[in-house]
Amino acid sequence: MLNRIELRRIDLRGSATDPRAVLPRAQLDVAEAVERIRPLVEGVRQHGFLAIREATQRFDGVTLRNLRVPAAALAAAAAALDPAVRAALEESIARARVVHRAQRRRDHTTKVVPGGTVTERWLPVGRVGLYVPGGLAVYPSTVVMNVVPAQEAGVASLVVASPPQADNEGLPDARVLAACALLGVEEVYAVGGAQAVAMLGYGSDGAPRADGTPDPADRCAPVDVVTGPGNIWVTAAKRLLRGVVGIDAEAGPTEIAVLADDTADPAHVAADLISQAEHDPLAASVLVTPSVALADAVDGALSRQLAHAKHVERITTALGGPQSGTVLVDDLEAGLRVVDAYAAEHLEIQTADARAWAMRVRNAGAIFVGPYAPVSLGDYCAGSNHVLPTGGCARHSSGLSVQSFLRGVHVIEYDEAALADVAGHVVALANAEDLPAHGQAVQARFPA
Ligand code: NAD
Repeated sequence: MLNRIELRRIDLRGSATDPRAVLPRAQLDVAEAVERIRPLVEGVRQHGFLAIREATQRFDGVTLRNLRVPAAALAAAAAALDPAVRAALEESIARARVVHRAQRRRDHTTKVVPGGTVTERWLPVGRVGLYVPGGLAVYPSTVVMNVVPAQEAGVASLVVASPPQADNEGLPDARVLAACALLGVEEVYAVGGAQAVAMLGYGSDGAPRADGTPDPADRCAPVDVVTGPGNIWVTAAKRLLRGVVGIDAEAGPTEIAVLADDTADPAHVAADLISQAEHDPLAASVLVTPSVALADAVDGALSRQLAHAKHVERITTALGGPQSGTVLVDDLEAGLRVVDAYAAEHLEIQTADARAWAMRVRNAGAIFVGPYAPVSLGDYCAGSNHVLPTGGCARHSSGLSVQSFLRGVHVIEYDEAALADVAGHVVALANAEDLPAHGQAVQARFPA
């Protein structure tokens, strides 16, 4: 079968159109998905295990016997892991650890006035739920990207949830379990999708024992923060649970944008566009270039490379979807405006003087500079995190980091003289807001 693919072209040359109005983007209706999963999430809140088992039967085709993966299954998965995959995971963990350890913020005390200080303490959240997808593909690498920052933040209790696989006796994928074991994660649940996010947020009783009472060893206690990427149902559940728990940025179907000029190698650009399209039919691959010759050459390379690709159907759907395309621009300056407006999850800069262009980008989840930093490197082994904001959320949100698992707490210490010194200002502001009891709380300390 000959698979010819030409990316849809959006020609912005000589146009004053706001790029945001015409840029390709998946029509993901997360708000509608939220309404669709609301009853499921409410069911998990009210009925725990029984609702999770029903949803798992419906969406994963698996009959859950237990929520929790037995310790023996984690150990067995680690023991059976292909040595090459083990070595790669260990390298990925080591590199991620170096980068994330350097992110840890230090507590800091500011002396505001003599006798008055504010200390900012960074405290890890108590318990986190880390979602590892496992629908179309399985992601042991996402175990690394979730767990390492949480561990480096000092989180005491962390749990992983990942969909049960019919071909692994209803447990999550064996490589996901092995990655958990390598990282020392002991609490792992065989639950995916919106039901997993609901379980993490509200907690759940365990599977019933022979006498019908819930098994306490199978119970999932609620967490404080849920992180991790996933499909639209996972994203919708995170949006719905926000407030009940903290969540990281919405990290939905993956996106790559490549800003390239005619110094780029079209075969490399095509390979990188295909690599992200491989994740999901909803994945987005976008080329932004002032060079028609490059755009033509990339189309040719896409068709040639597709002939040897494994997940041809997924890739062609993603590349042919409304979320993918080539944007033709007048020059790289205009290209920069387009990629900033798009705010891609992953942005590659394949131009002359790539670093200088990269340093001018304002909006992207992560930026990959030059010919030897493809997105696949960042997916696995760059040391950077691959859980990144999608759908334009990079305009306001960051990828997963140690910071995602910390809270800053101000500790205020003033002595008598320092409070007396500022008391008049406090009273004036309290009166201006018609909250006189605020002012009296200060004055009570200084009776006339
Ligand atoms: P997934 O684990 O997110 O979803 C599979 C689960 O969806 C199943 O367990 C199933 O129970 C549930 N499900 C299916 N239909 C449902 C429905 N109607 N209602 C409720 N739940 C339902 O795995 P996936 O589908 O392979 O998606 C993974 C996604 O994560 C991909 O889009 C990939 O691009 C993305 N991803 C993003 C990043 C990032 O950082 N942005 C990183 C890795 C992966």
